[in-house]
Amino acid sequence: MAQGQENFRDSIGTINEEGKRAWVFPKKPSGKFYTYRKYVSYVLLIFLLAAPFVKINGNQFLMFNVLERRFNIFGFPFWPQDFHLFVISMIIGVIFIALFTVAFGRIFCGWMCPQTIFMEMVFRRIEYWIDGDRGAQIKLDRQPWNAEKIKKRTLKGLIFFIISFLIANVFLAYLIGSDKLMSYIIDGPFKHWSTLISLLIFTAVFYFVFAWFREQVCIIACPYGRMQGVLLDNKSIVVAYDHKRGEAEKGRKKWRKNEDREALGHGDCIDCFQCVNVCPTGIDIRNGTQLECVNCTACIDECDTIMEKVNLPKGLIRYASEDEITKKEKFKFSPRLKGYTAVLFILIGVLAGMLFLRNDLEANILRLPGQLYEHKEGDIISNVYTYKLMNKTTEAVPDVNFRLLSHEGIVKVVRTKNFVVPAQDLAEGTLFIEIDNAAVKSDKEKVKVGVYSGDKLIETTLCAFMAPRSYK
Ligand code: SF4
Ligand code: SF4
Repeated sequence: MAQGQENFRDSIGTINEEGKRAWVFPKKPSGKFYTYRKYVSYVLLIFLLAAPFVKINGNQFLMFNVLERRFNIFGFPFWPQDFHLFVISMIIGVIFIALFTVAFGRIFCGWMCPQTIFMEMVFRRIEYWIDGDRGAQIKLDRQPWNAEKIKKRTLKGLIFFIISFLIANVFLAYLIGSDKLMSYIIDGPFKHWSTLISLLIFTAVFYFVFAWFREQVCIIACPYGRMQGVLLDNKSIVVAYDHKRGEAEKGRKKWRKNEDREALGHGDCIDCFQCVNVCPTGIDIRNGTQLECVNCTACIDECDTIMEKVNLPKGLIRYASEDEITKKEKFKFSPRLKGYTAVLFILIGVLAGMLFLRNDLEANILRLPGQLYEHKEGDIISNVYTYKLMNKTTEAVPDVNFRLLSHEGIVKVVRTKNFVVPAQDLAEGTLFIEIDNAAVKSDKEKVKVGVYSGDKLIETTLCAFMAPRSYK
């Protein structure tokens, strides 16, 4: 850390001494990493906007229908009955991100997080287009309300609102499904008041986040950002200032032409503050790794440009670990990384196995509560049950019937014989199982029922069968 100044840790970069919001006016970034980030953001934006409208085998590619507890991940549907699989998938996702964080710091935040992508690559670029670069933005902010300021603020607010509204629509498609959203749009939004109100609330939230709250999401609200303290160590590769090189023996110093900085004992940092001016979270990376840093690489690009101008080697700010800077140690696959990787592979194996064993049609047959058994003519024992068949596929299952597999006996479905389980839907009803008393060995035993489509066995399930107590 530079020059023994620790007081930056007492507050966050975007709150001033009076405790008020210090608005950040970051300089427009440019350079190698920014160009790469733009390309990555184009791909991710297309992905984020298209994912709820793409279908695989009739299933929405990504869907998070919390209300109905239905989730699709990469076109793979998870029903309420598959909640354990969904939880395992989420844990895998968290460990995957943790693994990446231990190794590569907040690379996810800077390159892939939707908040950063929308903020820096959509809203911020519109702001540069309307308000101009850092200097012009500061000037506009300070100037009194005149025609120019009203025009720019109105235009920006309007465009931000339209984009927030579009994002809210896509967000809703993730939540309720794109088919439902499209049908509501075709029906006319005023026929679906509750959805329209939700949409306007989402729009307001997105507008608030991108027009005002901005970097505070990463600094204050994001739980992932708060986890950095426990995930990062001296071996993690982060966006780092090479303080050894930048400070040398006598610290940083302003640039003077024809001065031999090395001989004077000064480091390569010319204290130009460009890395601070370009930072969207308003911090000085020369103070070391800080919770506000989202690893956006803007300061790397900016410092490289300065180094080029003053004819010093690039990479004063670069992707590096603390150990690389202080001990010249290269990246190692540490025991912590090995541990995370092992857990990740085990969980992926468990999930793959469970997905492989999962049935497309899930059957549940339960005895009707409070009912014992009925002793019928011919020493036949009858039990009554409710059945639920969940079809998880996008195709209807026709000609469904039940057969008893473990005992000689019959299954009688009430009011219907063979029936259809509609696609992605539930069929439920009542059935009786009848078994000859002589074939029942105890007063309570398990019976196995087969669920057939025509003559094809598609699922089996067990249920309890009650019979008279036997003293044989
Ligand atoms: S941009 Fe580079 S040279 Fe300028 S202050 Fe930052 S670290 Fe120092
Ligand atoms: S310190 Fe650098 S990498 Fe971190 S947020 Fe600021 S500009 Fe981005």
